[in-house]
Amino acid sequence: MSQRVRKKIAILGSTGSIGRQALEVVGAHRDRLEVVLLSAHSSVELLLQQAAATPAPVAVLTGAEPAAVPAPADLPRGLRLYLGAEALTEAIAASGADLVLNALVGAAGLRATLATLAAGATLALANKESLVIGGELPQIAEALAPRPFGGPDARIIPVDSEHSAIFQCLLGEDDAALKRIWLTASGGPFFGCSRDELARKTAADALRHPTWTMGPKITIDSATLMNKGLEIIEAHHLFACPYDAITPVIHRQSIIHSAVALADGAVKAQLGTPDMRVPIQLAFSLPERWRPAPQSPADLDLFAAADLSFAAPDFEAFGCLALAQEAGRAGGSAPVVLNAANEVANEAFCAGRCGFLDIEALVRDALDCYPADPLESVDSLEEIDASVRRHVGLKLAR
Ligand code: NDP
Ligand code: MG
Repeated sequence: MSQRVRKKIAILGSTGSIGRQALEVVGAHRDRLEVVLLSAHSSVELLLQQAAATPAPVAVLTGAEPAAVPAPADLPRGLRLYLGAEALTEAIAASGADLVLNALVGAAGLRATLATLAAGATLALANKESLVIGGELPQIAEALAPRPFGGPDARIIPVDSEHSAIFQCLLGEDDAALKRIWLTASGGPFFGCSRDELARKTAADALRHPTWTMGPKITIDSATLMNKGLEIIEAHHLFACPYDAITPVIHRQSIIHSAVALADGAVKAQLGTPDMRVPIQLAFSLPERWRPAPQSPADLDLFAAADLSFAAPDFEAFGCLALAQEAGRAGGSAPVVLNAANEVANEAFCAGRCGFLDIEALVRDALDCYPADPLESVDSLEEIDASVRRHVGLKLAR
């Protein structure tokens, strides 16, 4: 019997929420997927366990101290382990991966996105921040140019559940057919709260998300609705959709993962029980669809999902959403400023160093202080990013 050729995949950020779920998908489809590279930042032990179990020939730790890493003789057999952010881009280039899942968190994912595209591999993109800040860079804009979206030449496949939904709705459609994106949002743990109530919320409150279990950064972003703001910018780049035609809509049940309105008035939506393994697996399996990973929730029962609700977001209580729309529309360096300020403020809130509404205030201040300039290069983008981080850090220290 002839053996199936397995797709070679790299999983960046394998120790995180998306990364661990991606490895579950791999475990369910070992006959179709071969892992050639794993990465983590500083979770040494878990990364080594994953590398041994997969097994993966190469692993990279981008943020671990050499002293925290076992000697080569103590590594899992056959594993080559590298340290540092540069080692990750080099490992992507050398991996021979057909597909790279970028599940790093934050702007740190940009170099990995660029290295993947430069290597000619398909990019399965969970790391929305790299698209938010780098969507206008020619390397990324060119990778998004082949149309129709989702056609055989697609080089970037979205993993974010909303964007995977839109991607699925647009499969087989002509680009010109897209009239509006309805970008659904759960509303997060603070849906319906007033500004006074929001002012008293702590990180522990924010980390209790109603429908999704995710890493801490995106969970806080979901509480401020910055996540939806970042996703609006992400959708703008992925689907070449003008900002005026992207409407965020609060849908508490997270059953409809997003919808598109088409030229003739038809509206297509993608529905399912919330489970990130579905969009992760689809990014791995396209153009095929495979059976779900074990322990996945049962298929959606429409009778059980009878009470679906939709509401406009409260832009006044959740100011980060409007700030992201503003930054997206301004373009150039504005989304870089927005994202860098948000990353620093998000982390400070998580560490109890600022209040919930300070996140919005710090992002607003950064956008006021840094004019929106055209992006000249990755290096200048990273200089702006670093400068904004220093600026917000000084504000927090006062
Ligand atoms: P996690 O925080 O759970 O995981 C992040 C991963 O990236 C970990 O492997 C971590 O390693 C690694 N990492 C952290 N910092 C760095 C760095 N500076 N450089 C390189 N690697 C780093 O995040 P999530 O899995 O929740 O999210 C990952 C991305 O996917 C984000 O962009 C998020 O917005 C997006 N996403 C996530 C969803 C979810 O359900 N979680 C849904 C949709 C999108 P270590 O363990 O060593 O710290
Ligand atoms: Mg999402």
